[in-house]
Amino acid sequence: TPVKRATHVVLLANPGAGHILPVAELARRIVAHGDGHEFTATLGTFTNFSSSEHSSTLASLPPSVSTATRIFTVVNRALPHLRDLLLRSPSGVAVFVADLLSPAALQVAVELGVPGYLFCTTNLMALSCMLHVPELDRTTTCEFRDLPEPVQLPGCVPLRGADLLDPLQDRSDPAYRLMAEFGNNHRLAHGFIVNTFDAMEHQTLEAFKYLSDKGVYPPAFAVGPFVRPCTGVENANGEAAEHNSSCLRWLDEKPDRSVLYVCFGSGGTLSTDQMAELAMGLEASGQRFMWVVRFPSDKDRSACYFGGSGGHGDSPLGYLPEGFIERPRGRGLALTEWAPQVEILNHRAVGGFLSHCGWNSTLEAVAAGVPMLAWPLYAEQRVNAVMLCERVGLALRPRVGTEGNNGVVPREEVAVAVTELIAGERGAAAREKARQLRQGAAEAWGPDGPSRKAFEDIAGKWKKAASARAAS
Ligand code: UDP
Repeated sequence: TPVKRATHVVLLANPGAGHILPVAELARRIVAHGDGHEFTATLGTFTNFSSSEHSSTLASLPPSVSTATRIFTVVNRALPHLRDLLLRSPSGVAVFVADLLSPAALQVAVELGVPGYLFCTTNLMALSCMLHVPELDRTTTCEFRDLPEPVQLPGCVPLRGADLLDPLQDRSDPAYRLMAEFGNNHRLAHGFIVNTFDAMEHQTLEAFKYLSDKGVYPPAFAVGPFVRPCTGVENANGEAAEHNSSCLRWLDEKPDRSVLYVCFGSGGTLSTDQMAELAMGLEASGQRFMWVVRFPSDKDRSACYFGGSGGHGDSPLGYLPEGFIERPRGRGLALTEWAPQVEILNHRAVGGFLSHCGWNSTLEAVAAGVPMLAWPLYAEQRVNAVMLCERVGLALRPRVGTEGNNGVVPREEVAVAVTELIAGERGAAAREKARQLRQGAAEAWGPDGPSRKAFEDIAGKWKKAASARAAS
């Protein structure tokens, strides 16, 4: 009898921790699903995003283009190479899973004659928004932030046009066109594998299922939450690191649920003014805090997404108000390195998370049962914040200041919001919601859990497709 070949799944992740980490977790679960016999997985990503020195594609773009344009351009230009690589794969390719932000890569699956899926590193509401863009584009002419009515998508919370995804806020940005095209490319997908779960987005999932049953969209499989397990202390390279464990030791000395953890993900940065207001607000709140501080956005662009340590050899702490680091005396800790976020969130001393609402950070907060203060910055984070505050109830939201202060959240508002989250009634309600969601997340992958079932459903389809190909 011929030896049965394992089904080879190739996954393509966009760069950035928020993409590579959950795609790696999907790959791990695919292989674990068949005890390592039924599936093999290969994870690919792009290495040439960091600087134009290493990428002729990046070098060809004007320095002012947006992050989204850079990503879309590099991905699109890499596709012919990806195709060549996959055609030469000695183990063949049975299934191709592309990152949601690389839908054009699905064309490669079509050429290989294998099923292609999109892995959605964010939630279903944000995906619904992206899918709705072509229609919005066709039916409106103004910038989305000037839309007179909120956008009401099936099963979703109404969204102000200004809360829609970042690259869509400027029709003249080349990324706008690329995002609008996304809605057309999605049709090549056999399905969306979404890092969300029923207890988080029940209504949206129901509405999406109704639409996909009618053939409007490919089906969505909610297989999340994929969150790194809280194991040990490690840095971005997976190495144990002394500076990281010292921050956990700092937490060891604090009372239960008394510390606010502040972090804006792998790429989020604040303006110098906003950094100062946040610092003064944290201090004025009198609450304990641990803040992962990055260089301000207006001082060093390399502080964001594309890596870099600041470039001028100084520390981001130098941009904080005079005396800020010394004054809190044990009440506050500022970190400048990559923080062991999962371990921090799971520490008993952490009582709240001031977050940019990146989806991985959100899921990590949920898995740890920690309520949030929503501070969205870019990408789909405003969509996430609206959902978390207005529907899910996991997050509170500080008010942006009055007109004329460039959208900066003033220190008074920071202090009120932080105190409310850690010590107030609304904070307690959000904490109770976090506890419920934590349970829902654990059950999602339980024996009969909805995410486990959705995952098994896809695995079954993949095996079937692979056998059908082998037989033909
Ligand atoms: N992260 C971390 N330490 C840091 C900053 C970020 O471990 O100092 C991790 C965080 O735990 C999460 C990911 O980086 O898993 C960030 O992903 P998210 O989707 O929240 O935001 P993005 O970075 O994509 O904006």
